[in-house]
Amino acid sequence: MSTYAKCFDPSGTRFGIPTYPWRFAPDGYATRRQLREKGLRPGGQPVAAQVMRRHRGRKSGVQVAYLYRIDCAKPVRPMTSRKWGALALAMLARRTCPQCRFTYSYCIPTSLGMCVPCAYPEEQRAA
Ligand SMILES: [Zn+2]
Repeated sequence: MSTYAKCFDPSGTRFGIPTYPWRFAPDGYATRRQLREKGLRPGGQPVAAQVMRRHRGRKSGVQVAYLYRIDCAKPVRPMTSRKWGALALAMLARRTCPQCRFTYSYCIPTSLGMCVPCAYPEEQRAA
């Protein structure tokens, strides 16, 4: 049996849901990521179908991606002002040095965990 035939089950009798070979998904279906690129989300709909390909690295031997119906998808919810507020706070925290509490116009390097003058006080004094 060829790979194509092994992964081809449009009626879903073998896998429970309609299954197509990788890249042969019918029109009107999209993966979660493809929906996201269109500014859509599954919106609570169940998985409508799946695409499958053989994958040597996996224990099951196959890689599966779930497909959703594009006509049932909903637009991605716009960010609420509350979320924006939380984001702004998070950004502010990333720009504030935990050592000297100074807020910079740039993000504190995560590798240092503090601002550059705090991380290298000796070098700053020498310069
Ligand atoms: Zn600092």
